[in-house]
Amino acid sequence: MRQVAFHRPSIGPDEEREVLDTLRSGWITTGPKAKRFENEFAGYVGAKHALAVSHCTGALHLSLWALGIGPGDEVITTPFTFTATAEILAYLGARPVFVDVDPGTFNINPARIEEALESGANKRVRAILPVHFAGQACDMDRILKIARDYNLKIVEDAAHAAGSARHMDGRGMAKIGTIGDLTCFSFYATKNFTTAEGGMITTADDALAEKIAVASLHGMNKDAWKRYDKNGSWYYEIHDMGFKYNLSDVHAAIGLAQIKRADGFMRRRGEIARAYNEAFRADDALQTAYSEPGIEHAWHLYVLRIRPERLKLGRNQFVEILRERGVGCSVHCIPLHTMHYYQRNYGYRNGDFPVAEGIFSRCLSLPIYASMTDEDVNYVIETVLAIARENRR
Ligand SMILES: *Cc1c(COP(=O)(O)O)cnc(C)c1O
Repeated sequence: MRQVAFHRPSIGPDEEREVLDTLRSGWITTGPKAKRFENEFAGYVGAKHALAVSHCTGALHLSLWALGIGPGDEVITTPFTFTATAEILAYLGARPVFVDVDPGTFNINPARIEEALESGANKRVRAILPVHFAGQACDMDRILKIARDYNLKIVEDAAHAAGSARHMDGRGMAKIGTIGDLTCFSFYATKNFTTAEGGMITTADDALAEKIAVASLHGMNKDAWKRYDKNGSWYYEIHDMGFKYNLSDVHAAIGLAQIKRADGFMRRRGEIARAYNEAFRADDALQTAYSEPGIEHAWHLYVLRIRPERLKLGRNQFVEILRERGVGCSVHCIPLHTMHYYQRNYGYRNGDFPVAEGIFSRCLSLPIYASMTDEDVNYVIETVLAIARENRR
């Protein structure tokens, strides 16, 4: 039986060469490679500033901290995301105000954002934190307008969305990383491209970039990492409260090799998504992934929905059988408001966000990554179609 892993990073000779070069250079933590990776990433998305950090969770934390979000403040975000998006608000003593998602894109629904602001129930909202779910950009024209109307900041969770873009009014195609006040990316092992662990913040704001660069390494002045270099100075100043969120050169080295391949990875994921959509469209027990017009979808995830009313089994059994037949799969996401921590701390309840819960009850994520062969893709398609056929109601 064929085995198709849910994910496998594409690590090859270029990554090995860059990492070995770093290991042999005598400089293994934050230094010249992290700097180069920042420059390459800024070029890749077309951002004015790119700041490398140790993970996207740290990127989100630093971004909201730099905007001055603190105790008692509220941030509007989606419950249909990974816990990192909202957990960082607790670091700051701030509160997530969840609003429901769009049933087609699974992204935060701008109409629900407006309702939350108009309701009068959330008086201390300071920012909107949209997540570009699966790599499909949110409706940023509407979110920008809401932010302007209510004087809010926008921090984007782009952990799924490196490389994705969206048509914007008066701008044409705009890459994610060039829209909100601050945008946070992830290079975790399973993401669009990887540094094993890593993240990046992009912004066009010089002052925020400076503040974050300093804060990401203990609040030391910007070039403090050079203090062990022969041309560096042993003296450093502490300008601000800081964090330990720097990205090492070993990790950045992997990123330097990966970013050159990022467009190729994305193209391949697009091919796989089209093959899945083509194959599953014909079966009315399956609902294919939706991609809006006017966007460049990064296809970090391919989320298939089943229609339980047409099948004799539910999502959990569907996932179980796929795994038994060698197809690695997963579920994205378990809505945060249904989890113990979010219920206990913030008073959310099951039933609060019916669209997110409805998607969750029938969704599963299929393998989608650049190193999948056509045979792998065909095996996933055949296996999904066979399970649907065998279990039709
Ligand atoms: C992976 C992920 C993160 C966290 O990324 P790390 O780099 O692992 O910290 C944040 N948000 C979303 C939506 C994610 O999927």
